[in-house]
Parts: sequence; structure tokens; C-alpha cells
Amino acid sequence: MKKVVVLGAGYAGLRVVKELVKLKTDAEITLVNKNDYHYESTQLHEIAVGNKKPSDISFKITDVISKKVNFIKDEVVSIDRPKKEVHLKSGKVLNYDYLANSLGFESESFGIKGVDEYGLPLIDIETALAAKEHLENTLADYAKSGDENDLHIAVCGAGFTSIEYLGELVYRLPEFISKYNLPADKIKIYCIEAVDKILPMFTQDLSKYAVDYLEKRGVEFFVSTPIIEITKNSVKSKDKTFNANTIIWTTGVKGSHVIADSGYSQRRNRVMVKDDLSSSDDPNEFIIGDVSAVMSASGRPYPTTGQISIAQANFAAKNIDARIKGQETKKFTFKSLGTVCSLGPKNGVAEINVLGHWKLKGREVGPLKKIVNDRSVLELSNFKEMLASR
Ligand code: NAD
Repeated sequence: MKKVVVLGAGYAGLRVVKELVKLKTDAEITLVNKNDYHYESTQLHEIAVGNKKPSDISFKITDVISKKVNFIKDEVVSIDRPKKEVHLKSGKVLNYDYLANSLGFESESFGIKGVDEYGLPLIDIETALAAKEHLENTLADYAKSGDENDLHIAVCGAGFTSIEYLGELVYRLPEFISKYNLPADKIKIYCIEAVDKILPMFTQDLSKYAVDYLEKRGVEFFVSTPIIEITKNSVKSKDKTFNANTIIWTTGVKGSHVIADSGYSQRRNRVMVKDDLSSSDDPNEFIIGDVSAVMSASGRPYPTTGQISIAQANFAAKNIDARIKGQETKKFTFKSLGTVCSLGPKNGVAEINVLGHWKLKGREVGPLKKIVNDRSVLELSNFKEMLASR
């Protein structure tokens, strides 16, 4: 029997496994993941502020995969592609006939000085919890230290993760103020962004809504301000220094280091794949999710999102099944169902491409975000229900 090995149990890896089982693919399927649980990476900002607990956004992998799938809890160290071997941290070696590589993302420091030491990334449950503890401990310290920098929070970058983090933070801030008896007028929240736009993927009125919402609640935005260095208690650009004892590092992500370590031709640990999502030098290897780059019709790679990872996984599973059966593979096509950016649990902005084009902002995005979170991705039937109840 042919062997299919799936690396990583994020959105992409879990979906490949689920789809292969659904297709009754004639193969022995093995899934490898560092942890024995899956976490919803799109909700880490909620853990990082303490609005949710890890158990709210994670579940045990063996609870959701078929008993027919072999699950191995281990860390992938490298892939010997000519030999079709996956090397694991435990020393174990897995052989494969077909590979689905969905190893996911890591924080990107861009080589900026001090980031690895002092920046708090939000890339997994551990780092999100570390950010939460740092934030709360630092705010609590103010009573003893009297150091105003304990009340300053710098959020680096103004992409999706930063804006969603800020939304959660301003939602919970009143609770922190009363819990730690903080002087509200001394709290400072900086958001420092390299380019001149915030949330450029949304129409101007929606991005303005998000910025106004956060500014009204105390966030100060600094655009066209590339960060060049981080220290223990400051963020530096060419002309400005932001003093803060909590520094959240959310300036973007790159693919897993295993990609570079395994000799792939890559950029920021992302591999440009063929239009059926297979690798250009091995038709039986499929690369999906945040370790892949897929060209869109516009001639630029699609941005990485949970939604596209799941869409890729559905295609990759069908293409693996086709290869096993000796059939032609299909070209990946993708139409985004839309984008939602939360501003705390009850507010946000969204553009949805289902049953027309919808621009939503404010409290009506709250239930939509919940649907997205509950289902991992926008689903047509839920959205229809939501529209019907408006
Ligand atoms: P991102 O790439 O979307 O945003 C990072 C931001 O940091 C950019 O605006 C960039 O200009 C800025 N930046 C980079 N270097 C900088 C520097 N030196 N100084 C100042 N600013 C700097 O990254 P993200 O927010 O971490 O998101 C990662 C991926 O996950 C993205 O593809 C995103 O679309 C996706 N995501 C989507 C959602 C959602 O759909 N709601 C939520 C979270 C993440």
C-alpha cells in the first residue's frame, strides 16, 4: 500500500487528512505534528490579552481525525527529498510515496536587532500565553516600580494580527485599569507601522473605521515608521524612540525553518508551487498553507490566510488521490469568500464576497467573526443564515 505522510496539523494538514479519509484514498496515511493538539492560529491574539483560554481555541488531534490515520507526535527536523524520507527529532525516519508538506509559519524578525530577545511574537499557544503574562505582570508592576514605561505598550506593525490584538487590548483595558488600579491617563499604546497605510486590503472607509475605533480608545498610530531596533524597553525607528516595557512583535510571518533546512528553493521559507500545488521537482510532493506560495491571476502570490490554506488542502488531497489512481491532477483555483478583521469580541470590519459584495463594520461583524471562528473559515450556509437574520 502507498504511504502518504502529512506534515503539520494546522488548518492545511488537518484538512488534507480529513479529505483523504473522505475520498477513501487507497493509502496508509500518517500525520506528524509537534504537539498532540491543534490550535486556531487566527485566535491567538485573544489568548495574548486573556480574553480567551488556550482550551477555548485548541483541541486534541486524535479527537478529530479518523482512527485509520496514524498520528505521530514528533517534530520534523528535515526532509531528505531525494530519498523520500522525513527525519524526526526523536531520531525516527518516515518513508513516503506522497508527501503533503503543511508545516506552517514562524515569526519573522527580518534580522532586526533585539527582536528575538525582546519582541513578543504571537505564533503559537506558548508565545501568546507568554505575551499575556508579560503584559499583565508589567501592568501590575507599576504599583511597585512607578515606572511609566510599565504602562506603555508598543505593537509593532499594523497588519491583521496587530490590529486584532489592539482590538482585544482596548476591549480589556478597563478591566486591567480597575484590577491593577492604574492611572488611565498615563497608559500609552503605540502602533508602529513601516508603510503609509493601515489595513490596505480593505476599502478606505472600512480601514478608517478600524483606525478611528482604536484611536478613540487610546491607540496612537505611527505610519511610515520602519522599526530598526528593539531594546528591552524601547522600539526605535530612524527618527523616533518609543519607550515601552511591553513590545508585541507582529510584523509578519515566514514559513517553517524546515523548508530552508531541507534545501528547497524558497523565499522566506515559502516554496513557489506548480498550479496543481505540487513541487516543481517532485510531482508526488504537495506543498500547502504558509510554507507555499501560489501565483494568483494578478501575477502576485496570494497572501497566506487560514481560508486559502483550507482551500489548498482540499485540492491537494484530491490531487494526491488522483496521482495514486494514475489520473490527471487539477489546477488550484481560489476565490476568497471575504476577509474579517475583529476589533475585540463584539466589533470589527469585514468584506464578504458571498451572494454579492458586502462591506460590514461595527457590531454586526461580531456574530460574523464568531461564525468564522467556530467554523475555522467562512462557510456559505452560515453566512446565508446570518444575512437572513439581519
Ligand atoms: P502582515 O504581513 O499582514 O502584517 C505585518 C505588518 O507589519 C505590515 O503592515 C508590514 O508593513 C509591517 N512591518 C513589517 N516590518 C516592519 C518594520 N520593520 N517596522 C514596522 N512595521 C513593519 O502580518 P500578520 O499581521 O502577522 O499576519 C500574517 C498573515 O496572517 C497575513 O497573511 C495575514 O493576512 C494573515 N492573518 C489574517 C487574519 C484575518 O484574516 N483576520 C488575521 C491574522 C493574520
